[in-house]
Amino acid sequence: MTNWQELEHKYLMNTVKRIPVTLVKGKGARVWDENGREYLDFVGGWGVNSLGHCPPVVAEVVTEQSHTLIQTSNQFYTVPQVQLAELLVQNSCLDKVFFGNSGVEANEGAVKLARRYGKRYLNGAYEVITTMNSFHGRTLAMVAATGQPKFQEPYPPLPIGFVNVEYNNVEAIKVATTSQTCAVMLEPVQGEGGVNMPDDIYLAGVRAWCDQKGILLILDEIQAGMGRTGTLFAYEQYGVEPDIMTLAKGVASGVPIGVILAKDKASVFTPGEHGSTFGGNPLACAAGYVTLKFIIDNDIAGKVEEVGQYLTAGLEKLRREFPFITEVRGRGLLVAVEFNRDIAESAVMACLDGGLLVNKLKSNVLRFMPPLIIGNDEVDEALGILDKALHRLASQV
Ligand SMILES: *Cc1c(COP(=O)(O)O)cnc(C)c1O
Repeated sequence: MTNWQELEHKYLMNTVKRIPVTLVKGKGARVWDENGREYLDFVGGWGVNSLGHCPPVVAEVVTEQSHTLIQTSNQFYTVPQVQLAELLVQNSCLDKVFFGNSGVEANEGAVKLARRYGKRYLNGAYEVITTMNSFHGRTLAMVAATGQPKFQEPYPPLPIGFVNVEYNNVEAIKVATTSQTCAVMLEPVQGEGGVNMPDDIYLAGVRAWCDQKGILLILDEIQAGMGRTGTLFAYEQYGVEPDIMTLAKGVASGVPIGVILAKDKASVFTPGEHGSTFGGNPLACAAGYVTLKFIIDNDIAGKVEEVGQYLTAGLEKLRREFPFITEVRGRGLLVAVEFNRDIAESAVMACLDGGLLVNKLKSNVLRFMPPLIIGNDEVDEALGILDKALHRLASQV
């Protein structure tokens, strides 16, 4: 049998410490490895597989589209691009859409758009205020935007124009605002930074400050959007509307896509100022269109709210059973469990043994972001495996 893991070490750059499992197939909330072993997947391709693995509606449309039209130059009009843009606009507070290929590309574009706005309306202001423990992606500019030393330290000098301030602290944003500030960029819930929930009034406070100063509010909903937190977009829960929003992970069921959305007043690009070769191609947009349509037509966000509460309640029960769990936090199906010691890695491996995939977010934090289509029975199954895994760890610590 081919040793794929050995070949991986030979041929791929060493950018990720992989879990020793080679996945070959997925269906719904389950995946299979090369030996035919089945796992319940609570990582969901980093929160990408909203409708589960290989959802039939998406597989069908991708097959059909790949026999029809996969890619054109963006000089031409194409139908799926317009259909997805229309659906996004009709179901959000934003007016205009730009398509790229990934989350980080959407964020880069959002910052370019904000700088363009600054140049036109704010005397050339270009600085963007972002927060500590945020995550905005891996390009040099987004590493500068991402307020986490571990992502920044390997790469100096970083592009200028970003200020990282404390999250959940409106005052810190006020202090950092200068005549050079054109925007504030935030995640409504910090994902990679720890599943950190802001106070209910934080976003409204930031929104009011941006309005007072005439600067833009960019919400990075790449992880929190598309139903993940129990509403189609997380901003809906905080009673604010962003001027610019970015999406990616859950948009097209795993076909690469990134989206910038903006209010009319902030849609200031003119022809030639921004672009992408692959961005908005018919294949990705057709996958995005059926994914979003499915989420809306089946009220997936509403179901996420319910099953998310069921998951959180189950994890809270485990917290009462295992004193080394210090906190359960999150919203919808973006949930984290924090331990009082660095056992997340052992927990991941023990869950793997039991047939459950979970994500180590930090040395002492586990994250759960299963497909949005799971039911209570799958949550029960996951909690059962986790319970056993924690019992094993409890006997070791
Ligand atoms: C994953 C993520 C990104 C980066 O997306 P990529 O597609 O990996 O470039 C940016 N922001 C947030 C909030 C994310 O979760």
